[in-house]
Amino acid sequence: MKESKTKPIPVVGKMWCVFFGHRFYTTRNVTNHFKEYKCSHCQLELTNDEKGHKIFLTPEHKAINETLVNFYQRRHHLVS
Ligand SMILES: [Zn+2]
Repeated sequence: MKESKTKPIPVVGKMWCVFFGHRFYTTRNVTNHFKEYKCSHCQLELTNDEKGHKIFLTPEHKAINETLVNFYQRRHHLVS
């Protein structure tokens, strides 16, 4: 009897990235300088550090960005 339970493993995206590099699109504009990115192939998430370099988006960074978004939106709201 054959095993038919083998699920297709979603490695295609990751393999693509290994060979061709990540394909990031912007998922959120935090500020003019901070953005969040996601790779459309492997779902890897990145953000910017204070120097503008792309770094991995950790839950910690996500929380910081969340704070920044709230802060900037409130400030913008007060100004306009
Ligand atoms: Zn990728």
